[in-house]
Amino acid sequence: PPASVGPFTVVLLGDNGVGKSALASIFAGASDSMGSECELYGGEVFEQTITVDGERATVTLLDMWDSQDEGSWTQERCLQTGDAFIIVYAITDRSSFLRAADLRIQLRSQREADRTPIILVGNKCDLVRCREVSISEGRSSAAVFDCKFIETSAAMQHNVWPLFEGIIRQLRLRRDST
Ligand code: GDP
Ligand code: MG
Repeated sequence: PPASVGPFTVVLLGDNGVGKSALASIFAGASDSMGSECELYGGEVFEQTITVDGERATVTLLDMWDSQDEGSWTQERCLQTGDAFIIVYAITDRSSFLRAADLRIQLRSQREADRTPIILVGNKCDLVRCREVSISEGRSSAAVFDCKFIETSAAMQHNVWPLFEGIIRQLRLRRDST
């Protein structure tokens, strides 16, 4: 097989309960490749090689945000080490949406003038009757911070692979433009 690019480190951020671990477990369960996983600092690390647009890319996904204290050393490390970030909120929880905006401000301030790819993810889009954040609010919030946006449902496995493929495309674009 052709050589793969990466590994890229992709970090999951967002409030407790928004579905980060559910998204990570779908990523981990990809059947077309030999993934590996381990535990670190009470969180989990998943590695997977996936083919996007005919090119193989290896991604190391970090799901350890929940288990850390606010402002802890590990959280700081997460913010510093990611090549890309997935900031998740639940469309059923407005406070998680506001928290996502805070996280983007925090990221942008720590990585000044950095074009680190960030995708804002509105998860739980299957729960239509409990929606508290509209699609257009999500989209315009992402536009303000110059990041991509997608709504997903980990429960229905909707848009989860387009999310991971999207982040890989963004990482490649950045690589190809440097
Ligand atoms: P985390 O704290 O961000 O890691 O969130 P989890 O992945 O542990 O998910 C929190 C809860 O939300 C669990 O009960 C999940 O089953 C549920 N959940 C996660 N994603 C979805 C989704 O897309 N739709 C629905 N309906 N529930 C979800
Ligand atoms: Mg979790």
